[in-house]
Amino acid sequence: MHTSEQNKKDSYQQSIQELVSAYEADTRLGLSETEALARLERYGRNELPAGKVIPRWQKFLAQFQNVLVILLLIATAISAGLWLYERESALPYEAIAIFAVVLLNALMGYIQESRAEEAVAALRRMSAARAKVVRDGVQRSVIAAELVPGDIILVEEGDTIPADARLIQTTALQTSEAALTGESLPVSKDTGLITEPSELGDRHNMIFSGTTVTFGRAYALVVAIGAQTQMGRIAGMLAMVPPETTLLQKELAHIGKLLGIIVMAIAIIMITTIILIGKVSSLAVLMDVLILGVALAVAAIPEGLPAVVTAVLALGVQRMACRNAIVRHLPAVETLGSATIIASDKTGTLTKNEMTVRVVITASGRIEMTGTGYSPKGEVRSCSPGNNDYPDNFPQADPGVMEEDKASGRIEGALRHELEWALAIADRASNAVLQHNADGWRVEGDPTEGALIVAARKAGLEADALDARFERVGELPFTSERKLMTTLHANKKKRECLLVFTKGAPDALLTRCSLELVGEETRALTPERRSEILKLNEELAAEALRSLGVAFRSLPADAFEADRADESIEYNLVFVGLIGMLDPPREEAKNAVSRAKAAGIRPIMITGDHPVTATVIAAQLGIAEDRRVVTGAKLEQLSDEELDRTVKEVSVYARVNPEHKLRIVKALQRGGEVTAMTGDGVNDAPALKTSDIGVAMGITGTDVSREAADMVLTDDNFASIVAAVEEGRTIFSNIRKFLRYLLSSNIGEVLVMFFGVLLANIIGLQTEDGLIVLPLLATQLLWINFVTDGAPALALGVDPPGAHVMRRPPRAKGERVITPEMWFGIAFVGVITAIGTLLVIDACLPQGLIEGAGSIPYAQTMAFNTLVLFSLFNVLNARSDKQSAFVGLFSNKWLWSAIPLSLLLQVAVIYVPFLQHAFSTVSLSLRDWLLCAGVASSVLWLRELSKLIYRAASQASRSPVAQQP
Ligand code: ATP
Repeated sequence: MHTSEQNKKDSYQQSIQELVSAYEADTRLGLSETEALARLERYGRNELPAGKVIPRWQKFLAQFQNVLVILLLIATAISAGLWLYERESALPYEAIAIFAVVLLNALMGYIQESRAEEAVAALRRMSAARAKVVRDGVQRSVIAAELVPGDIILVEEGDTIPADARLIQTTALQTSEAALTGESLPVSKDTGLITEPSELGDRHNMIFSGTTVTFGRAYALVVAIGAQTQMGRIAGMLAMVPPETTLLQKELAHIGKLLGIIVMAIAIIMITTIILIGKVSSLAVLMDVLILGVALAVAAIPEGLPAVVTAVLALGVQRMACRNAIVRHLPAVETLGSATIIASDKTGTLTKNEMTVRVVITASGRIEMTGTGYSPKGEVRSCSPGNNDYPDNFPQADPGVMEEDKASGRIEGALRHELEWALAIADRASNAVLQHNADGWRVEGDPTEGALIVAARKAGLEADALDARFERVGELPFTSERKLMTTLHANKKKRECLLVFTKGAPDALLTRCSLELVGEETRALTPERRSEILKLNEELAAEALRSLGVAFRSLPADAFEADRADESIEYNLVFVGLIGMLDPPREEAKNAVSRAKAAGIRPIMITGDHPVTATVIAAQLGIAEDRRVVTGAKLEQLSDEELDRTVKEVSVYARVNPEHKLRIVKALQRGGEVTAMTGDGVNDAPALKTSDIGVAMGITGTDVSREAADMVLTDDNFASIVAAVEEGRTIFSNIRKFLRYLLSSNIGEVLVMFFGVLLANIIGLQTEDGLIVLPLLATQLLWINFVTDGAPALALGVDPPGAHVMRRPPRAKGERVITPEMWFGIAFVGVITAIGTLLVIDACLPQGLIEGAGSIPYAQTMAFNTLVLFSLFNVLNARSDKQSAFVGLFSNKWLWSAIPLSLLLQVAVIYVPFLQHAFSTVSLSLRDWLLCAGVASSVLWLRELSKLIYRAASQASRSPVAQQP
């Protein structure tokens, strides 16, 4: 076997037979799985080589790329150098401790970042492209990266082409090659041989990796994969996707910078005060003061916030994936939290997409079918009295099947003839494949078509017999604009005739029919009969059935070339019948609709189906009980202003096409709504891109729609959108939780340091000769930063969602991540922390407001301990601005592991001799601990009190203020 490069002639210049033998391929059966596996080994994966991977050590070192940390390390190194010179203690404890804490912090940052990266990579793997391939004679879906040269692939409208391939069979195929050649108009493709050397854009018998199918379908032989493809040659390697920054991250980076400036200013004021008042005596002391200033900045500036937010977003996105919603763009997570509208398709999203034909109505009566799923077993019986006695001249049927219920529903004569025509047309004009395997019966392809095929089998029409009689020679694919699909068949009985089989939405189909089949005859389709059929169709719709009409006509075989057929053949058709199929609503959808409504989100149904079917299902699901519906045709008559008013009131849109969807989305957005909209077809891409959150279908959706979307549902289920909204809201509220926590704790620390120095003489923080003593040491500050920013903050990031998350209105568009209420809470906690800690210092020292008797290291240890305990009590406050900390107190198991862990570390720092040296602590008594804990707990009680007042005040003013955990 040769690859295309090894051939003298390029693939487009070779005949299909030449290529088939060169690639040892089989156009009917495809490769065998074993052969495909062997080729995968030999030729590698169908992927572009990835860009350079950054080694781990470089990523770790990147954690130190922070001016402040570098400054701190330099100052520490100088102080260690001085120690070497002066040798005042056994080891340079301070330098070692600072270095250790900085190292630990870097490690934590590194772990967080790699977790975030892993999560993002896992998501990419989950949304890996798939390809339809024929192997061992069966059509199946494989990961596109596992395609090999020689594979026979099937590509259809909306697919991204997975490899370079030579076309072997096409049906009205058009592709968009803009990504490769820059040509924006779709190009028609066929299988014809090209002998002359041609440019890429003119190789009409080839399809190229990375381009998309805009219309039609085709089978093709893979000739180049991965880097050998035309796209691979241009791109060379996988472009590194630049990390996306969300609005939230930008806002946080801004807040971080602002706080940085404030903290730096405070640090500078502090250092100057100490130097001026404290009469710095030696270089070593000056170094200590500088280290302290930088340590304060390092500890208090939340420079790691955007990274932590990414980790929380990525972890949340992983949780969403477990609930069947794959987020493709991180910003969507934030937008999901503020979604006010979910505009959803009906079929497959709100309904199960497990179609079963229930009714066939023809000129001579009504036939009902039983059975469930795709099993071709079930009863077929007539519900109309007195059938005509037409001879049984449709030879394929097995009469036994249809005569099961002889007493009541025997199908004979004209009715039988019409039924067989109806189902034969439905079956032949379908591309789905009915398969039987160990799991039972399943359909590969469109479920609507699957149901039609099953119905044909139930009626005794076997595939082989139909194949033998109606060989397919052409196709006009289904589009949601036309709502019709037509196939062309060579009529084996009348060689001079071609048969046109059309199926589609009855209203669209009837406009193209001029006759009707009655028994073996045709009669004119009078206006009266036309409206009668439309009425019957409405009756089917009122039974919540999805309806389709079938029609045919015969054409002289020499009238035109079958593979050049166009819509002009879809006229003067003979109407045969209506087919009604059941597509039951998903059980979980009703609950999801009511959850969405409780969360202040309006669900809207936008469907291509009949308006009556749509309203019946919408009413069953609770989307709209008022039965109001606007059809696509009506929508076209509305001006933008009228539509703006309509979308405020009407929640069901039927018989719409993708263009209408785009108009609806725009109208909703003009009305200030944040809209999540679903879509699956290639033409849905503009609506998906325009909506605030484009949601594509993982199972039935096209590649093009998935690429345009922000989120992909792996189960195509409406309930998963609601679940994703819940996760989105939870993530946002968790980010707010740890922001409350981090900022209030940091502000507490800064205030302690600032006022400790400023008020040193009032609280007794002075040596006997009047020198200022620092409330806390640099090492202690860094330690607090490590203990509190670590486990407890991360635990808050994964707080489980409370029930209230889905019982409050969506976050207002443009609302800041930190609201004024949050700032109040943060400042409140910061001030209490500062007052409490400074009072403890005062009480421990001989002078000041409260008389004490302790030494300075003792007072500093007490302050250090109190500050850590303040932080640990404050974790509980941070879960809400309004709700009591005692509601769901133990619901977060991570938090209750993080708090004891932090306490244990704190105990170690206070009692382990080596750590005592490093952090300049002294052992504390039980009484001391009780004092620290008592004072620190004040932050919890006082915050509870402030929340109580807030709740009472908001209740008194009866304002519908949302709970803001
Ligand atoms: P939704 O937009 O909610 O998914 P839908 O799947 O019913 O709704 P379309 O796929 O645009 O929307 O189908 C619209 C109508 O076209 C259907 O009601 C049906 O009558 C007809 N139809 C659907 N699928 C086919 C098909 N494969 N061949 C012919 N007609 C079809």
